[in-house]
Amino acid sequence: MQQVVAQIQSQHRLYGAGFMNKENKQRLFLEFPQLYREAIRHQSILSYGITCGNGWFQLIYELSREIEQVAEKVSLEGEGYPCLIRAKEKYGSLRYHVRIDERNPTAKHFMELVREAENKSKSICETCGKPGAFIDDGWMRIRCEICEEDIQARNVIARGFLD
Ligand SMILES: [Zn+2]
Repeated sequence: MQQVVAQIQSQHRLYGAGFMNKENKQRLFLEFPQLYREAIRHQSILSYGITCGNGWFQLIYELSREIEQVAEKVSLEGEGYPCLIRAKEKYGSLRYHVRIDERNPTAKHFMELVREAENKSKSICETCGKPGAFIDDGWMRIRCEICEEDIQARNVIARGFLD
């Protein structure tokens, strides 16, 4: 039983939103090279940088642009510029871990932008970017109806293989 549960959990991961594709990541890296400097440096490490699904690309793109606008307004540069450590899914929603110099007068503003985006992710399908809802059946996720049906169909097939 334990083994079956573990296998189903690993399938959940398999049929989850997966990693953001290269094209989307490259667009973020090219347009916001300062914000993503660490992610760019560690591109070959799969679990590093941006590890959520494509559905949150637009959300992350807009957040990046907002961070950039604030940073430019107060002329931040070098290590004083916010730096993305990891953008991932946790308990269904986006977690955007960004290193911010707390002596920075705009630090609070950055944190507000991040919190706002994380909250918005709670109603955006992590797979496709359409409006989605929070689902928790032991595995928490944000999905639209179509992506959820797709996951369920794949899981039924996967469970069939386990019997
Ligand atoms: Zn979807």
